[in-house]
Amino acid sequence: MRQTLVAGNWKMNGSREGNRHLLDAIKAGMDDGVSAEVVVCPPAIYIPQTARRLDGSGISWGGQDLSQHESGAYTGEISAAMLLDYQCKYVIIGHSERRSLHAETDAQVAEKFLAAQKAGLTPILCVGELLEEREAGETEAVVARQLDAVIAAAGIQAVAGGVIAYEPVWAIGTGKTASPQQAQDVHAFIRQRLAAQDANVAEKVQILYGGSVKPDNAAELFAMTDIDGGLIGGASLDAESFLAICRAV
Ligand code: PEP
Repeated sequence: MRQTLVAGNWKMNGSREGNRHLLDAIKAGMDDGVSAEVVVCPPAIYIPQTARRLDGSGISWGGQDLSQHESGAYTGEISAAMLLDYQCKYVIIGHSERRSLHAETDAQVAEKFLAAQKAGLTPILCVGELLEEREAGETEAVVARQLDAVIAAAGIQAVAGGVIAYEPVWAIGTGKTASPQQAQDVHAFIRQRLAAQDANVAEKVQILYGGSVKPDNAAELFAMTDIDGGLIGGASLDAESFLAICRAV
């Protein structure tokens, strides 16, 4: 049985003062019926604050991105070792906003996955199709291409140590959620594609759904066989909503 994971992606939101309240409220709500593993991914500058406030809480934290390089002349970048310095356990890799706004390629995403894994972080690899790709019937081809790039670089065994997040781009921040069946179909496709190379890896890996998950649709999504939790954007900025999603497991 795979443990359910609920990860919050704050994107470029928050403030020191606001985070204090949000983190404390999430921490306070954890005893109340939350059995999922919970992860918070704040903007990098707030990771030290998050580490301080969540220390000993049982909640994990992580980065929203990292550099594929270990160190050196990469102004503005953050390395895996730096995330580990502040006890990050997870890091989101290849979020659609990184792919579209920062032109991250499949190959670069694969390098980042490898860098995270080598350093001992758990990568949360985001994959997902654009609306026009879905409408053209290309969903599986796109997801397969994104996944295969990582398998080619890191190897199938490395995937077992990571987490995959299926995030249809048309559902991110739009209020349009994939139906539970639409999401389940892609999750099952991902698992089958992994199983073709290694059945054990396919069985073990957690596959999260992300894209406008809210308290009122979380339970039906999480009830699907191949959905092992969620990557939550907007709703993770409100403690009550985030906790309600965590409790929907
Ligand atoms: C995300 O940013 O990964 C995400 C899923 O956002 P939202 O929940 O707001 O759609």
